[in-house]
Amino acid sequence: MTQTTAVPMVRARSVRKTFGHLEVLKGVDLDVTPGEVVVVLGPSGSGKSTFLRCVNHLETIDGGSVHVDGELIGFTASGGKVRHLRKRDITRQRREIGMVFQQFNLFPHLTVLQNVVEAPTGVRGESRAEARARAGDLLAKVGLADKADAYPRHLSGGQQQRVAIARALAMRPKLMLFDEPTSALDPELVGDVLDTMKTLAEEGLTMIVVTHEIGFAREVADRVVFMDAGVIVETGRPADILDAPKNERTKAFLSKVL
Ligand code: ADP
Ligand code: MG
Repeated sequence: MTQTTAVPMVRARSVRKTFGHLEVLKGVDLDVTPGEVVVVLGPSGSGKSTFLRCVNHLETIDGGSVHVDGELIGFTASGGKVRHLRKRDITRQRREIGMVFQQFNLFPHLTVLQNVVEAPTGVRGESRAEARARAGDLLAKVGLADKADAYPRHLSGGQQQRVAIARALAMRPKLMLFDEPTSALDPELVGDVLDTMKTLAEEGLTMIVVTHEIGFAREVADRVVFMDAGVIVETGRPADILDAPKNERTKAFLSKVL
């Protein structure tokens, strides 16, 4: 598949982000093509979560630009000028970008089905019947059709995370961001969540996945990005990065996690 002419799904240029005196992103450049699965690796504190949050309007950026599907996201500061987007554009853009966090944050007082139905009826304005039918399909997709009427507290962490994935998919996102989706799970529950993500990848969903699961990176990623100290230091095909890293910092990191 050649997609060189397609508009990138994500186009980040010289993205900078500062918290007080701490410069967390020091010029991040990343293109993600439609349908691509990019795994982001890197030590704790390197800015991985902050970068994802900048793509999803959870943080504003202090420099550079982020485009998603050709549209400007958040603010951009260029030539000293800060450009603000209209609120309704931000709301619409956020709907089109799904995010799954380490902590799944399901609504505890709603059933599994209601958790998945809630987002599209509340925000997308879909009819209840339409949203329920689709939620049922999505729960089947993540392997939880039989848990539709259960409450989150009766589910394992892995099952809850799969509900969170179904909930994000209910919004029909064109881009999914995963921030260490399996880091809070007991080891025996990680596999089902990764399998679900693999299915989504095979279906052509564009995904940026921050994870320490090297096996997933090797098997599912089209590209692996290694981030350290607020910059992307190396990027390439999984086998190239994982088996033959060129950068010293990548080598040092992989020697610890592999
Ligand atoms: P990673 O996800 O790679 O572990 P983060 O993006 O979470 O890294 O954090 C990068 C750095 O930014 C860390 O030093 C973290 O403490 C700092 N940081 C993140 N969010 C905030 C915030 N809201 N306020 C201040 N510092 C923050
Ligand atoms: Mg993080």
